[in-house]
Amino acid sequence: MKVAELAQYKQILLDLRKKLVGNVTFMEDEALGKSRQDASGDLSNVPIHMADVGTDNYDRDLTIGLIQNGEEELKAIDNALERIGNKTYGTCEECGKKIAKARLAALPYVNNCIECQRLEEEGEEGEEETG
Ligand SMILES: [Zn+2]
Repeated sequence: MKVAELAQYKQILLDLRKKLVGNVTFMEDEALGKSRQDASGDLSNVPIHMADVGTDNYDRDLTIGLIQNGEEELKAIDNALERIGNKTYGTCEECGKKIAKARLAALPYVNNCIECQRLEEEGEEGEEETG
């Protein structure tokens, strides 16, 4: 891949990273804000209804799930930036073939080609089916 192209993808990845970091921080505040409020407030004034507590926990788990996904995406972006640094970006880590430009345009932080991704997904599905 040309240096100019690498620079372009680097910019895309950095923008994506910035957006993602903003989102994760925002979601963390949302998810943890409630419990912080509860902890700092006068506990004797907090009514405890089991139904409410259940809903709160459910919302929080859902948001924390999103944060974890975001963190995985962030890791992938950091990996991609590293690969740009050592000029292996755009090459499949599994089979060493070039990753299609269309795939990189859609998912700039992928580290494998569409064929390897498909194989991986098929493998995972197979494992999940058994049992
Ligand atoms: Zn591959």
